[in-house]
Amino acid sequence: MSWKELEAGAVVKGGTSSSYVVSGWRVKRPVIDEAKCTNCLICWIYCPEPAIVRHQEGKVTIDYDHCKGCGICETECPPKAISMVREP
Ligand code: SF4
Ligand code: SF4
Repeated sequence: MSWKELEAGAVVKGGTSSSYVVSGWRVKRPVIDEAKCTNCLICWIYCPEPAIVRHQEGKVTIDYDHCKGCGICETECPPKAISMVREP
């Protein structure tokens, strides 16, 4: 039997990460210092989740429902405008 003859067991849909709230995984949360942020969008490029929100005026904010606290944005932010702060 080839794989083409197998019955479909599951369907993987694209772009589903925005359907799940992942905030419960987080130990630390990223906080943006707006005075240091240059709106370069590097954090938006590197974030593995749909957690960096781009606003029309160029500003970025964090959607904490979809941020899992990985800290990649803090590491990659060129002017070090993001700090990971321990969750209460
Ligand atoms: S990477 Fe840093 S400076 Fe660039 S948009 Fe994000 S928070 Fe702002
Ligand atoms: S901590 Fe990770 S998931 Fe949260 S905004 Fe930064 S890069 Fe995205």
